[in-house]
Amino acid sequence: MQPSAHHILSSVFGYPGFRGQQEAIVGHVAEGGDALVLMPTGGGKSLCFQVPALMRAGTAIVVSPLIALMQDQVDALVEAGVSAAVLNSSLSAEEQRDVEGQFLAGSLNLLYVAPERLLTGRFLALLERTEVALFAIDEAHCVSQWGHDFRPEYRQLAVLHERFPHVPRIALTATADHRTREEIIERLSLQDAQVFLSSFDRPNIRYHVAPRGNPRRQVQDFLDAHRGEAGIVYCLSRRKVEDTAAWLSDAGIEALPYHAGLDAATRTRNQQRFLREDGVVMVATVAFGMGIDKPDVRFVAHLDLPRSIEGYYQETGRAGRDGLPADAWMIYGLADVVTMSQMIAQSEAGDDRKRVERQKLESLLAYAEATRCRRALLLEAFGEAAPPTCGNCDNCLSPPKTWDATVAAQKALSAVYRSGQRFGAGHVIDILRGQDNERMTSLGHDRLTTFGIGQDFDATQWRSVFRQLLAAGLLEAEGEFGTLRLTDDSRAVLKGERSVQLREDARPARGRRTRDKPAAGAATLGIEATEQELWDELRKLRGELARQHGVPAYVIFHDATLLAMLRALPANEDDMAQISGVGEAKLKRYGRDFLAVLNR
Ligand code: ADP
Ligand code: ZN
Repeated sequence: MQPSAHHILSSVFGYPGFRGQQEAIVGHVAEGGDALVLMPTGGGKSLCFQVPALMRAGTAIVVSPLIALMQDQVDALVEAGVSAAVLNSSLSAEEQRDVEGQFLAGSLNLLYVAPERLLTGRFLALLERTEVALFAIDEAHCVSQWGHDFRPEYRQLAVLHERFPHVPRIALTATADHRTREEIIERLSLQDAQVFLSSFDRPNIRYHVAPRGNPRRQVQDFLDAHRGEAGIVYCLSRRKVEDTAAWLSDAGIEALPYHAGLDAATRTRNQQRFLREDGVVMVATVAFGMGIDKPDVRFVAHLDLPRSIEGYYQETGRAGRDGLPADAWMIYGLADVVTMSQMIAQSEAGDDRKRVERQKLESLLAYAEATRCRRALLLEAFGEAAPPTCGNCDNCLSPPKTWDATVAAQKALSAVYRSGQRFGAGHVIDILRGQDNERMTSLGHDRLTTFGIGQDFDATQWRSVFRQLLAAGLLEAEGEFGTLRLTDDSRAVLKGERSVQLREDARPARGRRTRDKPAAGAATLGIEATEQELWDELRKLRGELARQHGVPAYVIFHDATLLAMLRALPANEDDMAQISGVGEAKLKRYGRDFLAVLNR
């Protein structure tokens, strides 16, 4: 008889219940059905194949694209007392033989392999000689050419269905869009699979977007509120990654760079430190992130506009996988919008592709400039209906003021027009503000009717107006210098047929930072001052155990589990067993050490 799903969930993983659709998925796969699972990052995809793997006879084969990260998943399973192993090129020949031996002897519950290994004739022959419980295909969107994670080998995985038609397959991805979904079904021959589509909402993530004022200051303030916490800071260019990591380090923050231009050894080292140590900040390009399962990333910050809403959602989704509060924070400015607008204007792709690209950029700008709930906008972008307010984004928490900017917009547009649509925002703002300088005189712009008609606003306010006009498609920027031009929609504004509402940018606080630096965990996790000492001790013990065992700290216990201990103060092993995240193996291994700290 199969062991029950609930029994495995609580005895092995220490969790009291399934989340969302997990139970239905586990049941379906344990019964031998194929499944396609679409669930956001942090939704709990791993348990969807790990639990049935332990329910069914034989070994579950897990296909995953990133060799470096398989080991961490396996370490976590082994810590939970599960017999699991990795087979990939990072092992010596002898280690590989050893793993294969265990596999053939039927003593492995889960075996993680890279797709290129799985597809070798030799490995497929091994599979014929063993009992396979199921195939799990993680990061299934790698079959899609549209995304940036395309892996050609993934396309050949359909062979599994041909060779092993009776073994259930479960494909999983956090990529929501319809086209990718269709492609996964087709490429992996999953036409008969049941599709499990979860809501993509991540209620524990708080979204926040601010105009870029003084970026260093803004970043520093943000990171000060996240002292001692792990996070990712995304930048557009390698150069900016390097610069940012350097000045953050100078500012006393444990920050490491990551981008595709660094040599492989440095990349691996930095990634390992981020995964294994507590509270490292990774400054990275989008090259960093796929397959990073670190559950306690407390924030994801974007210092530049991301490339698309889909990309943004995946990147921010790396925060708060453990379900505890996390921040998605972004700053952006006029320069980003000019760049985006230039890209739209200059794109040389075919018409269809161009239209798609344009829509993508427009929805990203609409998100950045939104005055309504950001979560609602994000979910709508994925075709999901959402309530109008969420209570956990900047716009819901402090609704932005809007103002009637019709007259300001008319002034701005006519200054662009009168100066011949040949200048960037900087010069047009100088015209509006009546800046008398040599360039102005030599161009004769001091004689324009629009010269000096905008003195009621300072340059920052005008930049905000131009940024929002660009984002709204009432202006476009072209060429190397971001020359501003009117669009078809501008005319209605100039003629007074269309009014313009803009958001009032919050002014960055100017006062000196007098606040004491908050202690680790205080900001996001809500650790009280009276709890701080015990919290630090629990984290310290976890860190020591992690080092002894050579695993990341979160593999010992997640923050969520430590937090539950801190609040419940278990007095003995029975109490400890009730804590979510404490399974039988970990209770036996670590229960006593943690009880000693808790009852000191
Ligand atoms: P995904 O692969 O979908 O991004 P994971 O499988 O890594 O998500 O799970 C995210 C986090 O949630 C992990 O830390 C995991 O241990 C935790 N988790 C998953 N399912 C449950 C559950 N039923 N109860 C408690 N925690 C869970
Ligand atoms: Zn909201």
